[in-house]
Amino acid sequence: MIACKHEHGDYIKPLMGWVCGQCFQVLSERPKRYRMVGIKVPDNWDGKRYFGERQEIAWQAEVLKSSDGTTLSTFIAAVARRFELRGGLDKDAAYLAALDITKMLEVPFGHPDYNWSRMGAVDLADEDMSYWDHDGPTGAN
Ligand SMILES: [Zn+2]
Repeated sequence: MIACKHEHGDYIKPLMGWVCGQCFQVLSERPKRYRMVGIKVPDNWDGKRYFGERQEIAWQAEVLKSSDGTTLSTFIAAVARRFELRGGLDKDAAYLAALDITKMLEVPFGHPDYNWSRMGAVDLADEDMSYWDHDGPTGAN
């Protein structure tokens, strides 16, 4: 498997991190790359202060907006809310289950073959819940 470049995603607070919209890993922070930029040394430089280089953000992962107008966090939140309301999960479990089933679509967030609207999220949650036994999500025990 090719390593994911984590090109887009969204910060999802209840999952305590930045969630990659491609591999759905929860990362501790938004992926960034830095570059070093030289600072121009002034003509009257006293020779003491350091005028080397500093870091600048060269790139950071995009918050991708689907063609349905949602970002990953709005989509996951909509799935999780459905799990809370209809499935009786608590918030933490609902978010984890939401992340799980989104990952199981095996396409990156925003893929044109799927409906990423809030309605799409509700449908996805409902479909998953139709497979649950009375004890809750599949594989939860
Ligand atoms: Zn990734």
